[in-house]
Amino acid sequence: MAKKTQSIKVDPAEAKARVEKIFPLLCKAYPDAKVSLNYSTPLELLIATILAAQCTDVRVNTVTQDLFKKYRSAEDWLKVPLEELEKDIRSTGFYRNKAKSIQKTCKAILEKFNGQVPRTMEELLTLNGVGRKTANVILGNCFGEPAIICDTHVIRLSRRLGLSEHTDPVKLEFDLMKIVPKKKYGGWTTFSNCLVFHGRAVCKARKPDCATCVIAAYCPAANRPDLW
Ligand code: SF4
Repeated sequence: MAKKTQSIKVDPAEAKARVEKIFPLLCKAYPDAKVSLNYSTPLELLIATILAAQCTDVRVNTVTQDLFKKYRSAEDWLKVPLEELEKDIRSTGFYRNKAKSIQKTCKAILEKFNGQVPRTMEELLTLNGVGRKTANVILGNCFGEPAIICDTHVIRLSRRLGLSEHTDPVKLEFDLMKIVPKKKYGGWTTFSNCLVFHGRAVCKARKPDCATCVIAAYCPAANRPDLW
C-alpha cells in the first residue's frame, strides 16, 4: 500500500519568502539545469515528450538519436506507414498509442498551424494528448516563455518544501505561479528545471539526502520522514 505522507500547511507569504532563499541556491547548484530530452526543434521536443510517457528520458534520447535523422518535418512523421513508425519507436513502450498520437499531432500541426508547433498554451492544448505539462515544456524550453512544468519531481519537492499542498499538477502549477518570480533568477522555467535536477540528484522520492541538501536550512521537511 502506498505510504500516506502528511502534507505541510502552506502559508503563501512564507512560501514566497522561502522561494527567494532557495531559488538562488538551486541556480548555483544546478547552473545547467534544463530539460533532459535531446531536441533541436520545437517539433522534436514535442515528439520526445510524447515518447517519454512511461519511459526514461535516457531511453528516449537513445531512440531519437536515429529517429530525428529519419523524420524531420511534420509531413515526414505523417506520411510513414503507421506500422513502420510503431516499429521505429517500439522500445519506448506503449508504441501503438504513441505512434497514433504522433501522427494525430502532426496532422493537426499541418492542418491548423501550417506545419509549425504553435507558440501559445491555448493552441498547444488543442493538440492530441498535449496537456499543460507538455505545453509548458515546449513554451518554456523552446519559446522562452515563463513556464512552470509540473512533473513528478516538481510536485514532490514543492510539497516537501511547503510551496503547495496540492498533488494535482494544475492546482500546484497555479500555486507556484503566485510565489515563484516569473523572470528573476531565470524565472518559472529555470525554477522547474532546478527542482527536477534536485529531485533526481538529492531529494529522491524514497530517501531524500537531507544531509547534503543545499536548501535544507529552509526546508520544513528536512530530516522529517513523516513529511516525505
Ligand atoms: S532538505 Fe531533504 S526533504 Fe528538503 S529539499 Fe532537501 S533533500 Fe528534500
